[in-house]
Amino acid sequence: MGYFRDNIEAAQGYTPGEQPQDDSFVKLNTNENPYPPSPRVTEAVRDAAEDRLRKYPDPLANEVRQTVASLFDVEVENVICGNGSDDLLSIAVRALVDPGQTIAAAYPTYSLYETLATIQDARLESHPCGEDFAVPVDKLAASKAPLVVVANPNAPTGVATATADLRRIARGIRGVLLVDEAYVDFSDENAMELARGERNVMVMRTLSKSYSLAGLRFGFLVAAKELVAGLTKVKDSYNCDALSIIAARAALEDQAWMRANVERIRSERSRLTAALRGLGFAVPESQANFVFARPPAGNARELYEKLKDRRILVRYFNRPRVDRHLRITVGRPEENDRLLGELKRLLG
Ligand SMILES: *Cc1c(COP(=O)(O)O)cnc(C)c1O
Repeated sequence: MGYFRDNIEAAQGYTPGEQPQDDSFVKLNTNENPYPPSPRVTEAVRDAAEDRLRKYPDPLANEVRQTVASLFDVEVENVICGNGSDDLLSIAVRALVDPGQTIAAAYPTYSLYETLATIQDARLESHPCGEDFAVPVDKLAASKAPLVVVANPNAPTGVATATADLRRIARGIRGVLLVDEAYVDFSDENAMELARGERNVMVMRTLSKSYSLAGLRFGFLVAAKELVAGLTKVKDSYNCDALSIIAARAALEDQAWMRANVERIRSERSRLTAALRGLGFAVPESQANFVFARPPAGNARELYEKLKDRRILVRYFNRPRVDRHLRITVGRPEENDRLLGELKRLLG
């Protein structure tokens, strides 16, 4: 009946977290950084706006590739940039997965992987996490899928996978392992060494979380040169705009700014985790900038709605195994206090 391909007609489409266009909410629902980006970013964008917009941008965003290459001790040919890491995920799926094939991932995980599989007319091969939400390493390592995606640390749980385990997955599979490290700057360990040492591993990062630049839309991926060359054939010619290229470079060059914000968030994460546990929530140890908390009575949806009435937004997922939890972004100390105060009242 419709004009669209059958898989598109049947698809739900990805549902992003709410983005209210007024500032009246304490916004702890989409894992944004509560602190501003480096002042060098604003300065660089202001300078560039004068004369960079008339011409097309560098198709390969080479100035950012160079910065990434020197930060992570790889070559420029090992790096590809994207319009957010969601763009790079979409490129990887289109480049590596035929319609009818599968993408392997843990469950729960970032639901965009399933959306992208559907658009490609591929299927998601979903392997449940353990009771403690540990990513099912053995199951993924045995997958025959052309693309295996692991969010590290995982979303929405915050649970990290050890680099040794990711290496085991990479060496077990026939296809490519994409490690989505959107939150890795908040964790103790990262898997970048696998992008340098394993021929089938791609490690992806974003500037949306640790660098406070969700509105900019910039991500990058590091992998063997052959993999980067393949992905480059699939991307849009000018997938990163001129201002985002300038801003991304400035942000990446100010590691100290990012690190300082990350430290503040990590210390608030410990405080928030302990306080929620004190209120009776079950909270797995998070390595990200959010916590995944199951209220004592399991009434997550009701708490989500009551918090929203009180102008506090957290994330509720109406999906199996996660529908008794709230995913709460770590905010500034005073935002976390507002949340904890309201929760105490609601539970008490
Ligand atoms: C936020 C997020 C991304 C997307 O990042 P963008 O660069 O903003 O597109 C990718 N993966 C996971 C797991 C995320 O939570």
